[in-house]
Amino acid sequence: MKQAAITGIRQATLVDRPDPTPQGDWVVVKVHSAPMCTEYKRFLSGEPTDSLGHEAAGEVVAVAQPGRLKVGDRVVAMPLYGCGCCNLCVSGDYIHCQDVLQGNAFAPGGPGHATYAQYIVKPDWLLPRIPDAVSYDRASLACCGLGASFGAMQLMNVGAFTTILITGAGPVGLGAVVNARFRGATAIVVESAPYRADLARQMGATVLDPTDPDTPARIRDLTGGLGVDCAIDCSGTVQAQRLCVDATRRKGTVAFVGECSDPVALTISPDMIRKGLTLVGSWHYNLADFAKLMQVIERSPLLDLLVTHRFAMSDIQAAFDCSVSRQSGKIILNPWA
Ligand SMILES: [Zn+2]
Ligand SMILES: [Zn+2]
Repeated sequence: MKQAAITGIRQATLVDRPDPTPQGDWVVVKVHSAPMCTEYKRFLSGEPTDSLGHEAAGEVVAVAQPGRLKVGDRVVAMPLYGCGCCNLCVSGDYIHCQDVLQGNAFAPGGPGHATYAQYIVKPDWLLPRIPDAVSYDRASLACCGLGASFGAMQLMNVGAFTTILITGAGPVGLGAVVNARFRGATAIVVESAPYRADLARQMGATVLDPTDPDTPARIRDLTGGLGVDCAIDCSGTVQAQRLCVDATRRKGTVAFVGECSDPVALTISPDMIRKGLTLVGSWHYNLADFAKLMQVIERSPLLDLLVTHRFAMSDIQAAFDCSVSRQSGKIILNPWA
């Protein structure tokens, strides 16, 4: 099968790898839609790898034994490889599994665990079915495109009475706007890239510029001087994380979705105790909420704005160039073109 690889700084190509095979409850999925996500960081650093991608929707094409799925089933591939046995996995929070399996447990390091590829192999319980009316491209947004912010909004009970601040309008932040609007919430977005700010505006958000020193005051003005009810950082930058804490009202909630290893300055008493803030880390959503997320995917008209580009995987170089340009929303690869 064909699989994408990074060969150097800003250099990507396709390579040939053996097709994965099913074994036990691991089934083979033919990938129809592979959304691009954080892999652009590898593209920029140039560290060679053929293990790219963790988001996919596709069709079951081979099973080893009777189980939850059969050949022909249309599925979304959930990220990672939870053990399926621990309390976290059983309760749907498999993303936090403490005993996560490494790639294809039947062939460590072997083919089938990267989604920028024509086939993947995955335990059947991590492959929820796609409703008939939903296309592969749209269903694939149940991974990071909409899933990360959906999980955070479930935690924060975002609804029609909520004003939510969303920092960063890359693919995840734009997905947050889709989720916020679906729930009837008022969305304030902070984003500097004009292309992405414009998309957020088209989705119905009020958009502010993080480089404008008046932005914190504007947020206060937009919320009657109180601050937003909740905030979600999708940028993974320290400045935005701090803005989320500062811009949220007393007794509000902040969810951190964008990843960042740099320390952010927090002072427990003024920031948390006196203000009564709740801070939550949110990576993904509980698997039990898959059907709810599918309703967003079936019914939101904003998905057409969220997906801005589709590339044949044979154009992987152009796809990555687009992914790093900050002139895109979500990008979806077709491994068969
Ligand atoms: Zn587990
Ligand atoms: Zn992702």
